[in-house]
Amino acid sequence: MGLFTRRKTVLVDSDILIIGGGMGGCGATYESRYWGRDLKIVCVEKANIERSGAVAQGLYAINCYMGMQWNENRPEDHVRYARNDLMGLVREDLGYDIARHVDSTVHKFEEWGLPIMRDPKTGRYQREGKWQIMIHGESYKPIVAEAARKAATEVYNRIMVTHLLMDKTKPNRVAGAVGFSVRNGNFYVFRAKAVIVAAGGASHIFKPRAVGEGMGRTWYAPWSSASAYALPIQVGATMTQMENRIVLTRFKDGYGPVGAYFLHLKTYTQNAYGQDYEAFWYDSIKKMVGDYVDRHPVPTCLRNHALLEEVKAGRGPIRMVTKEAFQDPHKETVGWENFLGMTIGQAVVWASQNIDPKEINPELTTSEPYVMGSHATCSGAWASGPEDCAPSEYQWGYNRMMTVAGLFGAGDAIGGSAHKFSSGSFTEGRIAGKAAVKYVNDLGKDQPQVSEAEYEDLKRIVYKPLENYEIGRNEIVAGTVSPSYILPIHGLQRLEKIMDEYVGGISANYTTNEPLLSRGIELLGMLKEDLAHLGAEDLHQLQRAWELEHRVLASESVTQHTLFRAETRWPGYYYRADHPKLDDEDWHCFTLSRYDRKSGKWEMEKAPVYHLID
Ligand SMILES: Cc1cc2nc3c(=O)[nH]c(=O)nc-3n(C[C@H](O)[C@H](O)[C@H](O)COP(=O)(O)OP(=O)(O)OC[C@H]3O[C@@H](n4cnc5c(N)ncnc54)[C@H](O)[C@@H]3O)c2cc1C
Repeated sequence: MGLFTRRKTVLVDSDILIIGGGMGGCGATYESRYWGRDLKIVCVEKANIERSGAVAQGLYAINCYMGMQWNENRPEDHVRYARNDLMGLVREDLGYDIARHVDSTVHKFEEWGLPIMRDPKTGRYQREGKWQIMIHGESYKPIVAEAARKAATEVYNRIMVTHLLMDKTKPNRVAGAVGFSVRNGNFYVFRAKAVIVAAGGASHIFKPRAVGEGMGRTWYAPWSSASAYALPIQVGATMTQMENRIVLTRFKDGYGPVGAYFLHLKTYTQNAYGQDYEAFWYDSIKKMVGDYVDRHPVPTCLRNHALLEEVKAGRGPIRMVTKEAFQDPHKETVGWENFLGMTIGQAVVWASQNIDPKEINPELTTSEPYVMGSHATCSGAWASGPEDCAPSEYQWGYNRMMTVAGLFGAGDAIGGSAHKFSSGSFTEGRIAGKAAVKYVNDLGKDQPQVSEAEYEDLKRIVYKPLENYEIGRNEIVAGTVSPSYILPIHGLQRLEKIMDEYVGGISANYTTNEPLLSRGIELLGMLKEDLAHLGAEDLHQLQRAWELEHRVLASESVTQHTLFRAETRWPGYYYRADHPKLDDEDWHCFTLSRYDRKSGKWEMEKAPVYHLID
């Protein structure tokens, strides 16, 4: 028995357990209640759903809205758009399924009190771009969370989920999850008939540009710690497109959003000498990716590529031309308000660096890579598609169910379906919630059962870092250096260095190759061994320890996938220097992986991409 296993165990029973109360989780909670009036719906969140997830500090635009009521776009158009942006590779069934339902989600947000801007001339929602509508979104998350709170039987805030529980009566079937309270340290065992993972994406697996005291300033939320990937990976769920990490072009140092600037204010970029540089790179990009460069809009990764090449050619920094647009007082106001809604830090950075965008064109930069399934990228779990339109190879059960029975996902957790954003993630949560209710109702007497031995064993494992610290703390040799444990921050920095140098991070100009990836896998293996010696001095550090565990497993998955796909599919996101071109003949396919936790081995395979929309 471990030193800390005397902590109280709290047992919670539910029909449907939702892990993560962000956009996907709130959607899943809301819709599960709608279809499962008398079911017990429990949502568990490591922060507080009131202000948690990537949308926590608000947004200025909802990036996925068709506008079908005004015949603005059709769901098929959105599938074509996402396919084009992802260089041909998306699960069109999943994307179509979201696009056809997303408008109703946005209408609900408005009903619940979200102020959506209107075009004074047409009375329609104010468009920022073809797919984006503008909102007064500071309170976006609290509004969405209120709907989830009212729908849930119970919401458990401040509980970090560390592992899923498997059914003791049937292999490959989920039966719940365990975690601990980051406030009082109690151990929680959630027994559930179905589980929906909606725990967001992953920042801080690659070394960030901002280090030291600025380390928290990444584009993607620092608290998005890869649980959405690690939890399914641990139990053998199949993952897809984990190599498809995303790199963002954003305002330098504050990572302020550029969408409203490009789309609404009609600003544009130029190099340090005032030249429009994108055209310089057309021929070389064409040689790498062929006709994809001629598509409209130009795929996000290719625009990054042109910027990166221009900087490498010595003509940086790249600047956003704001001086012209900001002469118009209305546009100037919109430009500043854009940050107030979601990235106030950018305004502070500009103020601190004497940048008035009316006088100076601000610099842009590219971020470190992140792993996500809902933005212009599509890493995540391989999920069963909608019954009415998914090809048979994409269907093995209920909609959005992973390859583990009873385990569903939404938002960043589900792979192959990019450009969901906040509204699409909530919509996917609704789709998963509805399917999970059906799954639970169909179970009949065949209910999953939790093994006490399994959760007792996990309890010992979960608190081990506290024990390591308690035992080893008097052996400290200097400052925080200990011969017998490593601190979560040390482990995190080691992880970020490995990923940065071997798997295509910023220091390597996003470039890697087979020998680097193979060495990276070896180094990640050594890091994994050392994780058994993580030391946590308190509950906060215990959370950091488990976030690190999740990040490391997700990173291993990213590395295995990057090694498997022997091509450069998304220049601007990353480069395989040993396979520098897009190769549609061999790689117009999805990559799939499965992790075996007993052997620690990864199985890789390809899956076909079906184009369902012309
Ligand atoms: C910087 C940024 C800007 C964006 N801008 C826009 C925009 O302008 N418009 C737009 O429409 N979309 C935007 N998006 C996209 C949108 O925020 C995401 O698509 C959406 O939040 C994804 O939903 P999700 O539920 O998958 O993840 P999240 O909303 O991030 O929710 C994940 C939740 O899981 C919780 N969690 C994580 N791990 C655990 C664990 N182990 N145990 C318990 N809980 C856990 C987290 O605390 C969090 O609450 C932006 C995203 C980012 C990062």
